[in-house]
Amino acid sequence: MSAQFHQPVDAAEVPRFAGHSTFMRLPAVTSADGLDIALVGIPWDGGTTNRAGARHGPREVRNQSSLIRRVHHVSGVEPFSIANVADVGDVSVNPIDLMDGLTRIEAGIAAIVAAGALPLAVGGDHLTTLPVLRAVAKNRPVGLIHFDAHTDTNDSYFGGNRYTHGTPFRRAIEEGLLDPKRMVQIGIRGSIYDTTDHDWAKSQGIRIIYMEEFVERGAVSVMEEARAIAGTGPTYVTFDIDSIDPSMAPGTGTPEIGGFSTREAQALVRLLAGVDIVGADVVEVAPPFDLAGMTALAGANILFELLCVMAPCIERRRGG
Ligand code: MN
Ligand code: MN
Repeated sequence: MSAQFHQPVDAAEVPRFAGHSTFMRLPAVTSADGLDIALVGIPWDGGTTNRAGARHGPREVRNQSSLIRRVHHVSGVEPFSIANVADVGDVSVNPIDLMDGLTRIEAGIAAIVAAGALPLAVGGDHLTTLPVLRAVAKNRPVGLIHFDAHTDTNDSYFGGNRYTHGTPFRRAIEEGLLDPKRMVQIGIRGSIYDTTDHDWAKSQGIRIIYMEEFVERGAVSVMEEARAIAGTGPTYVTFDIDSIDPSMAPGTGTPEIGGFSTREAQALVRLLAGVDIVGADVVEVAPPFDLAGMTALAGANILFELLCVMAPCIERRRGG
């Protein structure tokens, strides 16, 4: 079956630093037709409230993803053999008009969904997940497994602006895109605006697993609970790179100390195996604040980890 699927450029034939930069050295294609999973960039950070720069994330993650190889060394998953994956490029964006930006992003992801492929996106700031969910969850609410330092469930900023990277999951619940009873947020930490900041999320039924609880329990226990919360229904996975500690991922807009190590992040994502994933993303990689590409490298590797738990979903749906 693998012969008919897109394959990465072989680094034994063409060195990793040569050629055009695409996600995981896969072919660049112009539509998602025939794909199982579409790697797609969302170069937009119009929702950023502090340090901007995540608009440059997709290009740098593409560059660092040239280091990705074909086989997951723990699970043995070979994603490019069991799913047809390619780089569909970046969705259309508008850097100077927030609402038009959201419309364009939704349209780009809707085209991927209409082609029958699952989107695996690289942002962009975390507001980009809202238009992605509008496309992915158009017909029914989905569950959410969310790795982040922040809950991103605030109501508004700057006198009533309801669309920022601090509000996407509140909007998504209000729009009926997410089932809050099937939502879990992992890695939450850092100072907050008010003691009541997380009350709304909790009142909706969202399970918040603070970093301190993760440290107590470890990845296996936390992800056992996360898988139970998501259940067997369709689930979206969103990974904010600021869930990783800024000593390992400094290139992001809203850094919070006391985060996951890259090794802990890998372990967490691997434990998503078995969840019915209908789309996923890695967001908030901001290359202008990065050092030696380390944040983009972490993002590229988390992208591969996500791909290696998504590709088996394709195989299961195929009945394989
Ligand atoms: Mn976030
Ligand atoms: Mn965050």
